[in-house]
Amino acid sequence: MEFIRIGIYMAMESEAKAFIESLEFTSGIDTSPYGFKSYSAEDKNYKIQLLVGEQDSKYNVQSVGTVPAAIATDMLIKNFNPNVVINAGTAGGFKSRGAQIGEVYAADSTQFHNRRIQIPGYAEYGRYYLTHKNDYYQKIISNLNLKAGLLTTGDSLDYSDLDKELVEPNKAVIKDMEAAAIAWVCYHHQTPAIFLKSVTDIVDGPHANVNEFLQNLQEASTNLSKTLIRLIQSHAL
Ligand code: SAH
Repeated sequence: MEFIRIGIYMAMESEAKAFIESLEFTSGIDTSPYGFKSYSAEDKNYKIQLLVGEQDSKYNVQSVGTVPAAIATDMLIKNFNPNVVINAGTAGGFKSRGAQIGEVYAADSTQFHNRRIQIPGYAEYGRYYLTHKNDYYQKIISNLNLKAGLLTTGDSLDYSDLDKELVEPNKAVIKDMEAAAIAWVCYHHQTPAIFLKSVTDIVDGPHANVNEFLQNLQEASTNLSKTLIRLIQSHAL
């Protein structure tokens, strides 16, 4: 096992709380204007730098979505020089592709589903499909029993008919609001990325996903934290 530098981004403190409580983190000061929360932890095998979206100073809600995610990831890579970036969080799951509440996925690929640009060449740019079957991913998949598949990203929690047009043909298994932006940053820095997502709600199910999200957030975050700890402590990376 080699020493590894792990950069982690989590959009919501409510998703990160269980993980922060289960490792000995030291909280640091983020001097950027975006109000991210910064934590670090280390032992002889790893050094972790964690950034959390935290409160948006204008609207007093947690900084979900692609813009803070991209900026935080760029900061993590420039300031910490990680061997691998992990984006850990929650996601909606598609029951038509076998997803269930509380399950943790390691996505093997990412795309955007709400960037529709009908100019030649720009449709592919809008989708920005990337695969993430890097060495870390292969190790995780063989060491931890996680589901895999395409993770699709858009800046909305709901799922419109137009979104569906880009998701259905590509058979995404889970849906979030950050991953494809983080993937874009990691791609340009040539930093391997891992996407761990715990299912809080079923996108193609009978319940409104806002209620389902809030109801299952705790269970999903606990499972996510357990997976992260297993991954870090069992040397699965
Ligand atoms: N209503 C929530 C807001 C959560 S936004 C609150 O009050 O706290 C949803 C967050 O969880 C995003 O960071 C996103 O990445 C993830 N997420 C969970 N389920 C999702 C879904 N069905 N679609 C898109 N993102 C989802």
